[in-house]
Amino acid sequence: MTDIIVIGGGIAGVSAAARLSDGARVTLIEGESALGYHASGRSAALFEENYGAPSVVALNKASAAYQQPYLSPRGFLLLGRAGEDEQFEADAETLKCPEISVDDARGHIPILNGAITRAAYHADAFDIDTDRMIQDFAKTVRANGGQVLTGAPVTSITRGKQWFVHCGENAFTADILVNAAGAWADQIATMAGVAPIGIMPLRRSMARLPAPAGHDVNEWPIFFGVGETWYAKPDAGKLLVSPADEDLVEPQDAWADDMVLAEGLDRYSQHVTEPVTRVETSWAGLRSFAPDRTLVMGRDPHIHDFIWCAGQGGYGFQTAPAASQLLADLVLGRPPHIDADTIKSLSPARF
Ligand SMILES: Cc1cc2nc3c(=O)[nH]c(=O)nc-3n(C[C@H](O)[C@H](O)[C@H](O)COP(=O)(O)OP(=O)(O)OC[C@H]3O[C@@H](n4cnc5c(N)ncnc54)[C@H](O)[C@@H]3O)c2cc1C
Repeated sequence: MTDIIVIGGGIAGVSAAARLSDGARVTLIEGESALGYHASGRSAALFEENYGAPSVVALNKASAAYQQPYLSPRGFLLLGRAGEDEQFEADAETLKCPEISVDDARGHIPILNGAITRAAYHADAFDIDTDRMIQDFAKTVRANGGQVLTGAPVTSITRGKQWFVHCGENAFTADILVNAAGAWADQIATMAGVAPIGIMPLRRSMARLPAPAGHDVNEWPIFFGVGETWYAKPDAGKLLVSPADEDLVEPQDAWADDMVLAEGLDRYSQHVTEPVTRVETSWAGLRSFAPDRTLVMGRDPHIHDFIWCAGQGGYGFQTAPAASQLLADLVLGRPPHIDADTIKSLSPARF
């Protein structure tokens, strides 16, 4: 049986490890003390099938059936103001959101103010139980005889007949190496002597607010400003507001920048009747994109036993079921269930 090491214990790595573990001996290596510590522990946990580049949408659609047990209804509401008609119409078309009246929009979100002139809504957006998804994939790895190691940062990688992955004093060997290191994917490639791709870690922040004016927000949809300039989403009786920032940073344990957060909260405030009086907590995570904002899945074109599983950007959870299945099919030589054009657009060979 082939020995495979997967580096990175976020949703990308743990789902890839799970799918590979029924046909190979898999070791998942995560540097932090818990799975999902970085981007995967900081997401908005939304499944919106129409969100992303065409190849991302193809993966979303192919993931939908697997996602079902992890989903609960949320709904998606797009809001526009005077002067934003062109962007509103473009967003509504991309996201396949039919227009509704502003009064109907207030039926969903009662705090919308008089500046709103356009609204579009669909019910087909869902919350994902991301913690359970990560833990279930990890259980599959263990059930198939694989190992899940945490607190084991990879410090160097060498290659003879096999890969040698060093975590401080400990070394692990494998025939195939899967790079699912999120924001650190280019660093892992460089360590392994593989040319980096230009993965860009873009910081996105989030603030948790008390429910505005004591409203019960649980049934509210996620609501977005046009051009993805901010969004707000209910979360356990509170409201999360994101400035939808995309600031390029070094790979790191990201935190929210106060000014970015304040500007984003101001954009949100321009759409609602209730002022922001208090931020209970805030955080940030890195959405790591390839230059074309499409995932990078498959064998490196020059070093064939080095597998890219990177560039999940803002779609890591919604694409994970199909993306991980595709990766395992490509590595284990099984016929993939994804169409050839999509596979080509995800291939590392495109760079
Ligand atoms: C604010 C925000 C909102 C988001 N909203 C959504 C959403 O609604 N829906 C959605 O689908 N996606 C969303 N995303 C995107 C999603 O969270 C990411 O695409 C996904 O989590 C990326 O997973 P990953 O496993 O690639 O990265 P990560 O979760 O960052 O995992 C990479 C792992 O690699 C490990 N690692 C790195 N270097 C080493 C090393 N040398 N040794 C060992 N381990 C190493 C890291 O410790 C890390 O745990 C959002 C992201 C953010 C930040």
